[in-house]
Amino acid sequence: MSSSQRRTGADACPGALDVHRAADGGLARVRIPGGRLRAEQLHRLADLAADLGDGALELTSRANLQLRGLAEGAEVELGAELAGIGLLPSLSHEKVRNIMASPLGPGGLVAELDAAVCAERDLAELPGRFLFALDSGAGDVAWSRPDVAALPVGDRVAVLVGGVDHGIRVEQERVVSTMVACALAFLRVRDTQWRIAELPDVAAVVAGFDRGPDRVIPGTPPTGGPIGPIVFADGGRGVGAAVPLGRLAADQARALGDVVITPWRGVVVRGGMPDIGLITDPSAPGIGVTSCAGRPHCNKALADVRAAALATAVPGRAVHWAGCGRRCGRPVGEVLDVVATEDGYLVDGRAVPGERVAEAVARGRQD
Ligand code: SF4
Repeated sequence: MSSSQRRTGADACPGALDVHRAADGGLARVRIPGGRLRAEQLHRLADLAADLGDGALELTSRANLQLRGLAEGAEVELGAELAGIGLLPSLSHEKVRNIMASPLGPGGLVAELDAAVCAERDLAELPGRFLFALDSGAGDVAWSRPDVAALPVGDRVAVLVGGVDHGIRVEQERVVSTMVACALAFLRVRDTQWRIAELPDVAAVVAGFDRGPDRVIPGTPPTGGPIGPIVFADGGRGVGAAVPLGRLAADQARALGDVVITPWRGVVVRGGMPDIGLITDPSAPGIGVTSCAGRPHCNKALADVRAAALATAVPGRAVHWAGCGRRCGRPVGEVLDVVATEDGYLVDGRAVPGERVAEAVARGRQD
């Protein structure tokens, strides 16, 4: 949506307790600030996915996790279990703890920002789409359309608002309070908008902060995360992997230790990666392939897009398969769009019969 457009209807983002009823049962979204999960949290989530859900954890494009296939009322037990492992620190703010952070960065401000958001009573009113980002300086999350982002620039930190550098510069110790202040300012001026970029004018949001004279040149949101051997910002070594179609089976999750979930439906770990079927080869065809739930999991789906996406045999440009025009879960950035229709697919807007879609996607990935 562009500036000054009006939203109609309520923001229906699911939460851990406010589950969405899909064709295959309840869908709960668990916010994982910064994507950081300790081993014991991940293992308990795996048990919950096996016991209450369909046996897998779904990774989202904001590095959150979803459980699906929940029976009616299962969210009560889920909520109690999540609270027990520190993943539900606030009932009132659970859907607004949307915080992305650079996966290889220190993530040092994640917990502080999470606590500050939860401590500010009015921020419970933020739309569930509102997104904070803490960029380590890598530029990997600052330009992925967050509403408020922190990006180190020299010895200070730029606070970007609505994806734009308005010149706000703060010391490291004021980053969190400034981001919270921007979110509060948005709440004061918003009408029906869900995102800062939808406001007709952001002047009232950015007013009153310290400004520097320079501006950061906007970057391009990456469409893929760290794959293969990686070096963390602190010099530690590890491995990055893509999770096929973003579905991490309970057994795979139990085999991992501490992880960082990435916004590209992958994980990074310190040390080595166990051989559990995740993709660590950057040239594998499954890299950059994502899909919505599709048929039979969603009532609106016109095709089993998961199965079609898994059959993608040619590597290349990122591709997102969707069972209808809503394109749920589409990653930000330059992505080949494959959308099921009543009589086939649209591949980047071009009609293609079902029997030719694999060929069209292979061509589109290599353009
Ligand atoms: S894109 Fe359509 S088919 Fe896919 S999950 Fe969303 S609503 Fe369902």
